[in-house]
Amino acid sequence: MTPPPDDEKYSRQILFAGVGPEGQQRLLSTGAVVVGCGAIGAAVANLLTRAGVGRLRILDRDFVETSNLQRQILFDENDAREALPKAVAAERKLRALNSGIQIEGLVTDLDSKNIEELLSGFPLILDGTDNFETRFLINDFAAQTGTPWIYAAAVGSYGLSFVVRPRQTACLACLLESEGTPGLEETCDTVGVLGPVVNLVASLEAAEALKLLSGSESALHGRLISCDVWSGRLQSVQPERNPACRACAKGEYSYLRGEAQPHITMCGRDSVQIHEGGRALDLPALAKRLSRTIPGVRQNGFLLRFQIAPYEMTVFSDGRAILKGTKDPAVARSLYAKYIGA
Ligand SMILES: [Zn+2]
Repeated sequence: MTPPPDDEKYSRQILFAGVGPEGQQRLLSTGAVVVGCGAIGAAVANLLTRAGVGRLRILDRDFVETSNLQRQILFDENDAREALPKAVAAERKLRALNSGIQIEGLVTDLDSKNIEELLSGFPLILDGTDNFETRFLINDFAAQTGTPWIYAAAVGSYGLSFVVRPRQTACLACLLESEGTPGLEETCDTVGVLGPVVNLVASLEAAEALKLLSGSESALHGRLISCDVWSGRLQSVQPERNPACRACAKGEYSYLRGEAQPHITMCGRDSVQIHEGGRALDLPALAKRLSRTIPGVRQNGFLLRFQIAPYEMTVFSDGRAILKGTKDPAVARSLYAKYIGA
């Protein structure tokens, strides 16, 4: 009798005592959602796809640029040339890595209105985001629904990861909303980031994900691990729950109620994102209209891009636009109103 092909594909993982044949079966029959497919999201999606997590959903709002390639391991120069949305490029790559699992890439920006639709039904949420607003939104959703999620972040040569299990461990609000909040004030767009640290953090995140999803919850270490790959400093602490925590103790889900979500957010160096929530755009029609007055309007089936010097606007079919060349929300708002419509 020939063994099922999965036995061969996952043989080294099955051989590992912590997973075994039962753990592998569990991995294949479960799923996870990766929010944000930049460097950490791409690396964690890559590892979980290869490990045979049965159903993966990847959410990302952005498109591939040349400056991503130094660290975002799922993307290549063609993806950047075509300005493919990261969710689309990631889905293609991941399918080629493992045809035996379900992979779904969605071009979307997670917010308080769509979070339930996008995250429900997944037993684990993985942080691949680049901002604290989205992380707090995930944290509120996780606390409300009792879903575990894994926090992961990196900037410069420093990164950290921590598994949040609602009402069993501290949550992100326990960690960051008490006084003396450390937080990462710097961003990858101001001080840069190294490929090795994002991939290290993604590996820490993926290892904890494998424990949770294969039924080895007792192997979770419960610690916040931080590391600096330049100085070689590694730290591991056990965060305490805050008994007065807004989210996991008091059940005040302010991010879920959308109170903290602006319509214009900073998005990388010298760029802003404009959300016009839930507004679908007909991109071919918009391209036709813009082409009458603006030369060089480009379209690739997922997004549309044009320049109004010194700015460059990229518009998505869900109504979002990313405006490069300014940090001023007023400029962004007025250009959006002028070219896309109010
Ligand atoms: Zn908490």
